[in-house]
Amino acid sequence: MTRWTRRRFGAAAGAAALAGIAAPSMAAAAARLVIIGGGPAGATVARYLSRASSKCQVTLVEAEPRYHTCFFSNLYLSGLRSFESLSHGYDALQAKHGVTIVHDKVTAIDATARRISLASGGGLDYDRLVVAPGIAFRWNAIEGLDEAASQAVPHAWRGGAQMQLLRRQLEAMDDGGLFLMSIPPDPIRCPPGPYERVSMVACYFKREKPKSKILVLDSKNSFPKQELFQDAWNRLYPGVVEWLPIDFHGGVKSVDAVARNVAVANETFTYSVANVIPPHSAGTLALEVGLADDKGWCPVDPATLESKLVPGIHVVGDAIVPGEMPKSAFAANSQAKVCAMAIDALLGARDPYEARFFNTCWSFVGIDDAVKVGASYRIVEGKIKAVEKFISKVGESAETRKQGARQAEAWYAAISADAFG
Ligand SMILES: Cc1cc2nc3c(=O)[nH]c(=O)nc-3n(C[C@H](O)[C@H](O)[C@H](O)COP(=O)(O)OP(=O)(O)OC[C@H]3O[C@@H](n4cnc5c(N)ncnc54)[C@H](O)[C@@H]3O)c2cc1C
Repeated sequence: MTRWTRRRFGAAAGAAALAGIAAPSMAAAAARLVIIGGGPAGATVARYLSRASSKCQVTLVEAEPRYHTCFFSNLYLSGLRSFESLSHGYDALQAKHGVTIVHDKVTAIDATARRISLASGGGLDYDRLVVAPGIAFRWNAIEGLDEAASQAVPHAWRGGAQMQLLRRQLEAMDDGGLFLMSIPPDPIRCPPGPYERVSMVACYFKREKPKSKILVLDSKNSFPKQELFQDAWNRLYPGVVEWLPIDFHGGVKSVDAVARNVAVANETFTYSVANVIPPHSAGTLALEVGLADDKGWCPVDPATLESKLVPGIHVVGDAIVPGEMPKSAFAANSQAKVCAMAIDALLGARDPYEARFFNTCWSFVGIDDAVKVGASYRIVEGKIKAVEKFISKVGESAETRKQGARQAEAWYAAISADAFG
């Protein structure tokens, strides 16, 4: 890990200038800080750098005009939250925080020339780059499940159109139908998210389609908050959810979107609606520019979030190898603040600060019934480790769970404002 002090950064910047490298300068022009990806990771970095002590120009490059959160999207599937309430624009980041917003797709990064290329043509020069591209899906890891098939068998593991597609399918399903969900192996975005989805679809069925059933084909033998989820399924939706661990079914082998079949080792299930989530990797850009290792994820120095593979580029959010942190919006937001502080220190405006990270994942299991798991984290021997953990308990009062739901809603409002301004 490179420990930067103002003096060391100044020396390095001088050496870089002598070598003809465009290093950020303290005295001269403002440092050009470019962030790729406007999810909770990238948008938070942009917002926090916009108020950094250093003299800098902050540019956020995001492919889409609006961001639709995955977090709370399970509540949209159950009808407890509107689609519009999950949608965020970038105007406030520009108007209130002075971040230059470029809506374009980044197609390449030249780490030597410190320049990114844009799909529309042209490019942007930078002094420091932050890459926050989220995840990509490993298409064809399951036979029959390529990107085109996801128009019939949605993953709904990114916000926006895929969520709307899955909700339309659930609405169109006959009462008495089977909702089949397949959960990929770790590491995945939001480890408790699939089980919250099971709960929220069961909640919708209870209200709208009480004869319908849910079959879960898991790639694991156990899952986060398992006791809490299974207690809720038994308590609130008895006889609706059947969860099968991988040792029972041997793994999903193929999907046939026309025949509406999903095959496991020794059996084929016919579904009414299927939600098959493919295995993940870091976002495509990270894979293409050499930020990801042979497992498909981006190793970083946790103190600065600087890539271990491409110096001068920081990576935050779901794309990284996060030690003991989960891949969550809360975690991404926490990493983003550490990254922004570290860049501010690299630019010489503040002393380096000891990184600390936080995460809480609330999951709705029913109406006004939310459970949580979380931890605070520190860097121990170069890795992010949980130091204090907490989790809800089976048998908590209805009032405690209701408070959990209110906390979750307050968190959603707070993180949205923190990231998008
Ligand atoms: C169903 C579900 C429920 C969830 N619930 C929770 C929850 O309750 N709490 C929680 O904390 N987390 C939750 N999560 C996880 C959370 O959504 C993710 O961890 C979070 O979105 C990661 O943020 P990110 O910024 O790293 O990536 P993303 O949110 O994926 O953002 C990446 C952005 O980069 C852009 N991008 C990618 N490549 C390029 C490129 N080449 N050029 C320009 N732009 C590009 C994309 O358009 C996107 O906007 C949930 C996830 C799911 C699927």
